[in-house]
Amino acid sequence: MSIVVHKYGGTSVGTPDKIKNVARHVANVKAQGNDVVVIVSAMGHTTDELINLMHQITKNPDHREYDMLISTGEQVSASLLAMALIDIGCPAVSLTGGQAGVVTEDIYKKARIKHIKLDRIKKEFKEGKVVVITGFQGIDSKGDIITIGRGGSDTSAVAVAAALNADVCDIYTDVDGVYTTDPRIVPEAKRLDTISYDEMLELASLGAQVLHPRSVECAKHYGIPIHLRASFDFARTGTMVKDTK
Ligand code: ADP
Ligand code: ASP
Ligand code: MG
Repeated sequence: MSIVVHKYGGTSVGTPDKIKNVARHVANVKAQGNDVVVIVSAMGHTTDELINLMHQITKNPDHREYDMLISTGEQVSASLLAMALIDIGCPAVSLTGGQAGVVTEDIYKKARIKHIKLDRIKKEFKEGKVVVITGFQGIDSKGDIITIGRGGSDTSAVAVAAALNADVCDIYTDVDGVYTTDPRIVPEAKRLDTISYDEMLELASLGAQVLHPRSVECAKHYGIPIHLRASFDFARTGTMVKDTK
C-alpha cells in the first residue's frame, strides 16, 4: 500500500461538476489500495472575491481577521469534495489545516509551515478514509488560523507529502505540465517532461505562478518529486519536477 498525495488548484475544483470529477478520480486511486490525502484550493476565484469583500469593509484589514476570512474558501471546497467522495461510496473526511496538524510560525498572512503532526491523518487512514485537507493554511502556537501566502496550497501539499514520506506529490492544475514559458501567453511554449528543482525555482522566481516557489524549495529540501499534471485529463503525462543529477 502506498501513500498518495494529490493537490487540486482553484480551477480544478471550480464547479460542482469538476469537484465530482475529482472525487471519481480520487476514489479510483483509493480503490487501488492506497492511503490518499487530497489538498484543495478554494473554488475558482473565491479568494479574490473574499479580498474584494474585505476591501468594501476596510482599507486597513487587521491581519488576524484577514487570515480568518481568506482561509474560509478552502473549507468550502474541502467539505464539498469530502461530501462528493462519501456520495460515491468512498469514506472521506475534510480537515482544516489546524485539524490536520499543520503547524505554522506565528506570523499572519505569510507564515512558513514548521511541521505537521501526523496523528489525526494517520487515525483517519486507519479508519479507511480519504483525508481532504484545506490548503494554504495552518495553525500557530496560539491556535489561530494562519495563511501561508497566495498560491500556498502547493506548499501545503508538498509539506504533507514530505511529512508522510510519500514517493511523489501530484499537483493537478489547469495546464498539462510546466512549459518553457506561460502557455496561455505564448502558444508556442513547449511542455517539459522533467525539470530540476533549481530550474523550476528560477521559473517560479521569474513569476511563473504554476508552482508556489516555497513548494519547490520544500520539495528540493525533502527530495520529494512534484508531478505537475492536468486535472482536465488524468491520463496526460505532465511534468516531473525532481533532482535531475
Ligand atoms: P492552480 O489554481 O491550479 O494553483 P495556477 O493558476 O496557480 O493554478 O497555475 C497554473 C497557471 O500557471 C496556468 O494556467 C498558466 O497560465 C500559468 N503558468 C505560468 N507560467 C507557466 C509555465 N511556465 N508553465 C505552465 N503554466 C504556467
Ligand atoms: N486560495 C489561495 C489563493 O488563491 C491559495 C491557493 O490557491 O493556493 O491564493
Ligand atoms: Mg496556484
